[in-house]
Amino acid sequence: MNIVQRSTIKGEGSPYSPVLYTPLPCGGVRGRVFLLTMIHEFQLRISPREAYDERGILSYLQREKGIRADAVQVLKRSIDARQRTIFVNLTVRAFVGEKPQDKLFDPIYYPDVSEAEAVIVVGAGPGGLFAALRLIELGLRPIVVERGKDVRERKKDIARIRSEQCVDAESNYSFGEGGAGAYSDGKLYTRSKKRGDCDKILRVFVQHGANPNILVDAHPHIGTDCLPRVIENMRKTILSRGGEVHFQTKMTSLIVENDQVRGIRCGEREFLASSVILATGHSARDVYRYLHSEHIEMEAKGLAIGVRLEHPSHLIDQIQYHSKEGRGKWLPAAEYSMVRQAEGRGVYSFCMCPGGVVVPAASGPEQIVVNGMSPSNRGGRWSNSGMVVEIRPEDIMPASLLTTSEAKRTDIIALETSDLNLSPSDMQDDILRPLLLQEQLERMCWLQGNRRQTAPSQRMADFVNNRLSADLNESTYAPGLIASPLHFWMPKFITTRLQEGFKAFGRAYHGFLTNEANMIAIETRTSAPVRILRQRETLQHVRIRGLFPCGEGAGYAGGIVSAGVDGERCAEMAAEKTGSE
Ligand SMILES: Cc1cc2nc3c(=O)[nH]c(=O)nc-3n(C[C@H](O)[C@H](O)[C@H](O)COP(=O)(O)OP(=O)(O)OC[C@H]3O[C@@H](n4cnc5c(N)ncnc54)[C@H](O)[C@@H]3O)c2cc1C
Repeated sequence: MNIVQRSTIKGEGSPYSPVLYTPLPCGGVRGRVFLLTMIHEFQLRISPREAYDERGILSYLQREKGIRADAVQVLKRSIDARQRTIFVNLTVRAFVGEKPQDKLFDPIYYPDVSEAEAVIVVGAGPGGLFAALRLIELGLRPIVVERGKDVRERKKDIARIRSEQCVDAESNYSFGEGGAGAYSDGKLYTRSKKRGDCDKILRVFVQHGANPNILVDAHPHIGTDCLPRVIENMRKTILSRGGEVHFQTKMTSLIVENDQVRGIRCGEREFLASSVILATGHSARDVYRYLHSEHIEMEAKGLAIGVRLEHPSHLIDQIQYHSKEGRGKWLPAAEYSMVRQAEGRGVYSFCMCPGGVVVPAASGPEQIVVNGMSPSNRGGRWSNSGMVVEIRPEDIMPASLLTTSEAKRTDIIALETSDLNLSPSDMQDDILRPLLLQEQLERMCWLQGNRRQTAPSQRMADFVNNRLSADLNESTYAPGLIASPLHFWMPKFITTRLQEGFKAFGRAYHGFLTNEANMIAIETRTSAPVRILRQRETLQHVRIRGLFPCGEGAGYAGGIVSAGVDGERCAEMAAEKTGSE
């Protein structure tokens, strides 16, 4: 017989009181328990050493609680490093006289949909893949078209960015199976409050081969070394259940009749269906331009632009774990999350990658874009994060409309035309201004990087003091760095706020503002520059029926999990629409 009891152990600073054992129907008297078999749930606050593995937790339970358990299962885990003494908070299930179930959750059943009605999914990033799987669950047949290559082939093109300094415009860190998330840290936490939806995304990942630890950790991550295999397995599910996946197939236009979508064109090829989930990500600028040229309703969106900041990971460990020893043997590489207001705009860290690498994430020629990722063990010698400044559409003004003194102001960013092939109508266009700014800065960065993928870089303290760095620290950025006065050529709107933010972070975290850290330019792809407008209830485009703008590119997600959640929601709405027709 299984008896599940909820018990809590009072730990330092814990608000919980111990819950006494209740009498067992299988024998025993109040206060003294004669166990046959039992399962207890505990909330523990214990040292990192004891939390490290099952043996440590078992011995803690026996010593502190008098429970001689045979096994424990960790249900939730988080690290509390706010004080000098670090604790690990655990929710565990202790098994006395029996074994934990092998099955962590009921796997999702994917029926055969080979004969079912089709729904087109454009893009095989997290938004598109989760949409496709959910469509199958709901009995519909996804036809996925993806402009890039499958996740293995794609890897070769990514390697060429380093070896040949060239970016394939259809196969890179943004485009290809798995989308922008495929070669990433695979951090799976989100600020979304819809916890239930997020848990489902994690379970789908586990069902396709991700480490079950992601169901347990407060800040789960898969790691760039494991993610491609999981993505491949998701594709295999889609294919084995009767769905279709077409690589190197780029949607070039929508087929629309009387404001109802009828399908898509991919060059000469047509795919027909009355629902299209458009999950093309935030780097598909050709898609935005196409939608704009067809007067498909969108709006300009705020974004954030800055740099990658790369510190030695032992320094971040020392700061975050309040110890000269760093993380020691029992703790993972430390994370941080920082935010400040500077001159009316947010300055914040973004997509922090402990023990990771900085990667060249451009999606076309004549651009430099940086991003970060980590392997599953986060064991590298360097830790990086984006450090970005919030920019609103109204902050961006065409340079041609500004006087010389206005162009130098720190509350405006001037959009230049000289390096960009922009028509005057582009320049006046409110909707595309944030996108044009991204393009301008990425190209500027490429010019500063010697027209290669060598990224302009400056030591952090030099930047704050407006000094060119004579040399740079070692870096994980494989194409190489070039010393450059970022404080001089990046827009003042960004540099003045970054300088202010860095000073504040340095005051709050002693040792953080240092010349041991490199700033690497430029981080521009933090979110979509426009939003494709959709109805709140049906998730269909505000005018075009059957068109479901989805995921990060449409402006409704920011990260792998939220893109996955949005993909599922769009699939559900597409199924509802199909059912009602
Ligand atoms: C290096 C890197 C690291 C990251 N690390 C993390 C992280 O650790 N955690 C996290 O939560 N987020 C991370 N992100 C962000 C995350 O990857 C994105 O938020 C997420 O992938 C967005 O999902 P999406 O499906 O909406 O779009 P995307 O992932 O961008 O997918 C869009 C897909 O559509 C395809 N496509 C585009 N245009 C067309 C077309 N015309 N026809 C057919 N296909 C098209 C693209 O090739 C792409 O595969 C990282 C991003 C990068 C670049």
